[in-house]
Amino acid sequence: MKQAILKKGREESVLKGHHWIFSGAFDQVPEKAEGGLFPIMSSTGELLAHAFLNTSTRTIWGRILSLGTEEPIAALQRLISSAVERRKLYVEAPGTTSYRLIHGEGDRLPGLIVDKYGDYLVVQIHTLGMDKIKDKIVDFLVQIVSPKGILEKSSGPSRREEGLKDETKVLYGNVPAELIMEENGHRFSVDPYQGQKTGFFLDQRELRKWLQDHVKGRNLLNVFSYSGGFTVYGLKGGAKSATSLDASAKAIELVEKNLVLNGLQAASHTSIVADAFNFLNENPLPYDAIVLDPPALIKKKHDFTAGCRGYFEINRQALEKIAPNSLLITCSCSHHLEESLFLKIVQDAARKAGRTITLLHKHSIQPDHPFNPAHPESDYLKGLVFAVD
Ligand code: SAH
Repeated sequence: MKQAILKKGREESVLKGHHWIFSGAFDQVPEKAEGGLFPIMSSTGELLAHAFLNTSTRTIWGRILSLGTEEPIAALQRLISSAVERRKLYVEAPGTTSYRLIHGEGDRLPGLIVDKYGDYLVVQIHTLGMDKIKDKIVDFLVQIVSPKGILEKSSGPSRREEGLKDETKVLYGNVPAELIMEENGHRFSVDPYQGQKTGFFLDQRELRKWLQDHVKGRNLLNVFSYSGGFTVYGLKGGAKSATSLDASAKAIELVEKNLVLNGLQAASHTSIVADAFNFLNENPLPYDAIVLDPPALIKKKHDFTAGCRGYFEINRQALEKIAPNSLLITCSCSHHLEESLFLKIVQDAARKAGRTITLLHKHSIQPDHPFNPAHPESDYLKGLVFAVD
């Protein structure tokens, strides 16, 4: 059989535009389905969509690429073009030449991430299906974006589930070991081969800008700083001093490089390589602006309780010790943690710390990290900004 058939009553989610088809929704699947693109039929024989199928995974067997009768590779090209067009309209600006070009399900391209660093693209592929059509993806990106080089930098547990190994490989042109990216007029050194993820956390651009506009005269502590995005924006915004803390010595080296790249070598800055949990626990925090932007503390559902405790703990420590009349920017990128619960955790931490907090601003979606309302699972980033009395 060259098609998959859904059970009666399971077409609704496909018709609504959700991208995933779970194993339990299928009545019949093709024998050899490993990553190929197949027609998805309703129980009454109607063509609903084309999806990548991978029946060797535990739960998500289908990932929809095109709906109705649209030919899936034509859909791939159309979707890449419209993602690029949206960035031109809503993201690209003088001083911002680096941003996420394709954001998986948010751009209706499940399993595909593409980040643009000036003239270069870094691609992350999360699924076997997308991996199988990599050549087509590269062809379309070259046609539509004309980059100088494309690097694949794919890693993570979702690839293991899909039967894929990690991959770092130039797919087109050449890609230098160091890229200098530009965001809101600030410059950052990106190591696309060995940096974290694709090399930079592009999803916090608007929150960094918010900090820049409100941090003047403050002493900033940037916890989980990575390459110092919040640090550079903070100092550019007139922070009196900044301290960057990360467990990775390489990340802190990048912070120092980025200060120089932005003419901030004379600024009052302190670098700390340390575990954030220990640091917050063991030290006074004489700062009046703190950023907490940890990695996802809940990676799997199984980590939920421990992860929530982690968020509570770092926020409690910061809130207990931060100076009066301060700013706290606290983030979670765990998609298992809903915003309402994250808000409650921070409020509980404030109560325990005996502080009053007022929510000033929220950050989640940016136009280069768009959200498909038919696919709520792709919501992940929550940045909350509080005034602390
Ligand atoms: N705020 C950053 C992105 C943070 S990513 C930006 O705007 O670019 C999370 C960072 O936390 C990574 O750099 C990672 O090295 C660091 N990290 C992970 N566990 C840590 C720990 N226990 N203590 C300190 N840093 C940690």
